[in-house]
Amino acid sequence: MRKRIVAGNWKMNMTPSEAKKLVEELKPLINGNGDTEVVYCVPAIDIPIVSELVSGTGVSVGAENLYFEDKGAYTGEISAPMLVDAGVKYVIIGHSERREYFEESNIIINKKVKKALEHGLIPIICCGESLDQREQGITMDFIRQQIKVALLDISADAVKNLVIAYEPIWAIGTGKTATSDQAQEVCGAIRDLIKELYDEDTADAVRIQYGGSVNGGNAKELFSKPDIDGGLVGGASLKAEFADIVNA
Ligand code: PEP
Repeated sequence: MRKRIVAGNWKMNMTPSEAKKLVEELKPLINGNGDTEVVYCVPAIDIPIVSELVSGTGVSVGAENLYFEDKGAYTGEISAPMLVDAGVKYVIIGHSERREYFEESNIIINKKVKKALEHGLIPIICCGESLDQREQGITMDFIRQQIKVALLDISADAVKNLVIAYEPIWAIGTGKTATSDQAQEVCGAIRDLIKELYDEDTADAVRIQYGGSVNGGNAKELFSKPDIDGGLVGGASLKAEFADIVNA
């Protein structure tokens, strides 16, 4: 039985003082020890204050990125040991914004997944097609490639514990959500791919989220689908509405 997981992706929003206000506002609305696991993936500078505020609430803290080396001359980067020491449990890897604006390739994403796992961080690996790819009918070819490379040399045991987020690029930040049937079709195909690459137990265990304009109104329908185990939420994670999504 997979535990549902709803993660907020704050992106480059929220100063530490704004973060404090938001987490305090969400505190009475969200039960981090309930049926759904809750994660706030926040900018690196917000990690200390958010970790302190969620301590004892059952809510986990995630990072939005990491570098694939442990330390050294990599100005501006954040390492897995730094995240672990700061109380981080999850890390988003391969978000489409990082692929697009920071030229992250599938190979770089694979290195980051390995580094996260080496240090006990749980990766939330993002994948998803563009509108052009969907219209050309190559959605699954593209996603299969993203996932196959992201998981190169990753063991079945590690895959059982990680999270894959299906996020169609055309639905991110656009207000245009995939229908629950569209989302289920791809999430189901991702689970089939995990079965093909590993085995049935691994496919049954891996958690697959949908992301792309999830809100308080559409979450329940999306999360009712058999292969959708929760959501990765951008815009709506920055307001009290996030609690409606968790409670859906
Ligand atoms: C995201 O960035 O992961 C995302 C899903 O954003 P939004 O919910 O705003 O579409």
